Amino acid sequence: MSREAQNPVDLDDLYRDVILDHYRSPRNRGLLDEATVSAEGFNPSCGDEIQLSVAILDGTVNGLGFGGAGCSISQSSASMMTEALEGRSLVDARQMSAHVQQMLTDDSFDLDAVNLGDLEALSGVAKFPVRIKCGLLAWKVLDQALANASGEHVEDDSDIPTRVTSG
Ligand code: ZN
Repeated sequence: MSREAQNPVDLDDLYRDVILDHYRSPRNRGLLDEATVSAEGFNPSCGDEIQLSVAILDGTVNGLGFGGAGCSISQSSASMMTEALEGRSLVDARQMSAHVQQMLTDDSFDLDAVNLGDLEALSGVAKFPVRIKCGLLAWKVLDQALANASGEHVEDDSDIPTRVTSG
């Protein structure tokens, strides 16, 4: 086992355990046949790739599946995301995405003010600037997919390019 797989970055033990659990046993890995929208993204700074398929029915995220390859942070972030969002309304899903992205990028974000469950494990990544984009990737892809599903257009983030592949 590579050194990175044992300890992706020097995360607190609890956070590291959650991230490694999702990395080793990813949830919802594999794209959905019944997807209503699919998107993909790339993190050039680390080489991470995420493909995401989302099945939306009556304003609810009915199912998610992901594929791709990359470091433990990028893949576990995608796994945690799919688990956290299943069954949520589109409004809730987009709010959760906004919160996670703030948690990763905004020092003043108050973790106690929200309930992100296991996703809080990603907060440890914020301390490692070179890994933040790894954690953000899946959420940028999600934003692209959900915006498309709502008939909106999201400007491509040149640091983390994403695009809709079907939908
Ligand atoms: Zn990465």
